[in-house]
Amino acid sequence: MKKSVFAAVLAMLLVLACGAAAAVKIGLKAEDGKAYYDFTLENQEFAILEYTAPDAKGKMVVYGEDGVFEGEILLPWSGKGGNVKLTVKNVKNSTVGTASAKLEKDENYSVPKGKSNAKVEDMVLTETVDGFGYSFRAEGTDFMLLQFRNKQESGQCFVFPNENGVYEGEISLPITYARTLTTVKVCTGKGDVKKEETVRKAYQIAQAPERAEGRLSGVVVCIDPGHQENGKMVREPIGPGLEGFTSGTSGMAQGKITMRKESIVVMEISEKLRDELLRQGATVVMTREAQDVYHTNLERCQIAEDAGAFIMLRLHADTRADTSKRGISVYAPLNSDYAKAVAGKEDYKHMGQLMLDAMKTAVGYKLDTTTGYVHLGDNFVGNNWAKMICFLIETGFMSNVQDDHLLSQPVYQQWLAEGMAQGVYEIALFRGLVEAE
Ligand SMILES: [Zn+2]
Repeated sequence: MKKSVFAAVLAMLLVLACGAAAAVKIGLKAEDGKAYYDFTLENQEFAILEYTAPDAKGKMVVYGEDGVFEGEILLPWSGKGGNVKLTVKNVKNSTVGTASAKLEKDENYSVPKGKSNAKVEDMVLTETVDGFGYSFRAEGTDFMLLQFRNKQESGQCFVFPNENGVYEGEISLPITYARTLTTVKVCTGKGDVKKEETVRKAYQIAQAPERAEGRLSGVVVCIDPGHQENGKMVREPIGPGLEGFTSGTSGMAQGKITMRKESIVVMEISEKLRDELLRQGATVVMTREAQDVYHTNLERCQIAEDAGAFIMLRLHADTRADTSKRGISVYAPLNSDYAKAVAGKEDYKHMGQLMLDAMKTAVGYKLDTTTGYVHLGDNFVGNNWAKMICFLIETGFMSNVQDDHLLSQPVYQQWLAEGMAQGVYEIALFRGLVEAE
């Protein structure tokens, strides 16, 4: 009995000691509407920053090469000055340290005077790539208070009417992810809400770079970014030589923390994959380049076929009730007539393994861990109808806090893209389509 009490106390002391040792020293300086941070997190490549400032609040994931993190946080609405507080978390969402700094008042800052209470009319919010645009009328007012809030950032600022009595302008939301929903409130100077609406931050795929000559010259790749903004579905035949139809329902994953939709996350990864493949010489066709489209699985396969694709990569992100689950999964077709014409079971399995291993290596998973698997089956209609090598790739689990954060990070998305491009190269090599470098 005594022994176990002693052990418990010792365990507690150890936890306390480790807890104290784990607190990370964070440098923080604030001036001219910005906060500058620097800290080191050993063996971590990503960290979460949560900050609060006088009129702004935000949450962002940052990348630090070799665990060294430094950068700036924009505080555009914090002219009245005050304290900036920063909490640093690891990607599992556990706090590792905090810091605060004083922000001096902007010399041009003053609280506006005049009338600021009227009915808000003709309000229009518009999606922009940087944030959102607003336009409204509030008869007889001199100024209003605009508040905005979403999953990644929030802020407030005073706005003023133009000579025609119209309030209009644009609000930049630099750390908000594309397609995130923002709630916008027009308030009186005291903060009483007069009108409330929502708007999303726009997403626009960047223009593709010019195709270079490279090790993938002559290889045609079809990228199929999974889903679309609204998941309308039709019943489709399961596959050639297979019996039955799909149920006509298809759920898409959503970020546990970011609340982002799978359709936009895989679009961002697809964009990076497109660019990486083009840089390596491949010819690329995409089944969609926007969110507001609707393509059935069969139509997507047809696009790949029409392009003469050697391989089709269908990019998705997974979700599970078990939120501890992380990793990459590669799914290949098995019994459809088309799949059998493409490759035998062993070859398909081997090619899937080439893709998985290339991706695991690129994102830093050890190859001998169970952070991913290759599965052959008949479950995926979009695989079954492909007349070329086809994989559905689950790039990670949006139900897992860590994967959810990472899947939206440009750096991590790029690693995934480089891994898939390497996989394409190794598969092309295996099939004799390209020569070894
Ligand atoms: Zn999906």
